[in-house]
Order: sequence, then C-alpha cells, then structure tokens
Amino acid sequence: MNLFFAARSFLLVEILKGMWLTLKYFFFVPRVTINYPHEKGPLSPRFRGEHALRRYANGEERCIACKLCEAVCPAQAITIEAEPREDGSRRTTRYDIDMTKCIYCGLCQEACPVDAIVEGPNFEYATETREELYYDKAKLLENGDKWEAQIAANLVKEAPYR
Ligand code: SF4
Ligand code: SF4
Repeated sequence: MNLFFAARSFLLVEILKGMWLTLKYFFFVPRVTINYPHEKGPLSPRFRGEHALRRYANGEERCIACKLCEAVCPAQAITIEAEPREDGSRRTTRYDIDMTKCIYCGLCQEACPVDAIVEGPNFEYATETREELYYDKAKLLENGDKWEAQIAANLVKEAPYR
C-alpha cells in the first residue's frame, strides 16, 4: 500500500488531476460568470428595485394622494402631503421616499389602487452620500418616465398572479 501512495506522489497524480480540472473548466465547461456591467443577468418581472412614480399616457400623474402607500409602509419611509387642485382633483404636493429606510417589501406597490408607485427594474442606483437617497417627487416621476416601458411590461406579466 505504501508503494501505491509513493508511486502516486512520485508521478504527481494529484497535481495532474488538479490541472486537468482547471483545464476542463477553462475550455469545456460553460462560464457561469458574466462580464458585469457590460453583461447583465436575467431579472424577474417581480424584481423590486428603485421606486418610481408613474404617469398616464396623457402625462397626468397617476397618484391620487390617497396615502395608502404611506400608511402601509412598515419602515415609515414615505412622506406625502396633498392639496386639491383648482379642478377639484387631488394630487400630492410632496411625495418623498427615504430610500435609506426602505426595506423593499413592495407593500407600497401592492397597496396602490392606481399602480402609481412601483418598484421598477433598476438596481443600479448606488450613491456616495445618504442625501442622494432621499428621493422627492421630481426624482420619482423622473424614474417613472425613464422606466415606464419596462415597468408597464412587467406589470402586464404579473397581472394574472395579483
Ligand atoms: S418597499 Fe416597503 S419599505 Fe419601501 S417604501 Fe415601499 S412599503 Fe415602504
Ligand atoms: S402612490 Fe398610490 S397608494 Fe400612494 S398616495 Fe398615490 S395613489 Fe395612493
């Protein structure tokens, strides 16, 4: 038996096996890594990313200032102030989300009766300061305008399960 182990050591069997494994993964096994940020992995339509406030196709804000999202938010990250407009419609004058408090539970989106506040597909919004993560209404509407096509498509895919 000792001779067997001596022969294995002398012939560097373990090293050759290790090198074969390396070569096998180098040449023959498909890569599991991707070249981020140039390549990106698949995202579920239910992915809960950066928040956005959506508009209707005519540009009108969807949000009717019912404050359900503010009430349901377990992190108390949402702050809304509202006033009726001259035409009697109710709209927010302030809609802030403190993204440093948000736990991405998605309850605000679930509670919204008009699909106004949503968690979009964007996950690339790291910042260098906390202040940049205090989102106001302008920022949220800008996100909505930017991601509307993808958000709308994701909501359609998710609709049968809601
Ligand atoms: S995802 Fe959850 S924690 Fe974040 S703002 Fe919405 S309800 Fe609040
Ligand atoms: S985003 Fe939706 S739930 Fe929140 S106040 Fe506006 S309409 Fe109501």
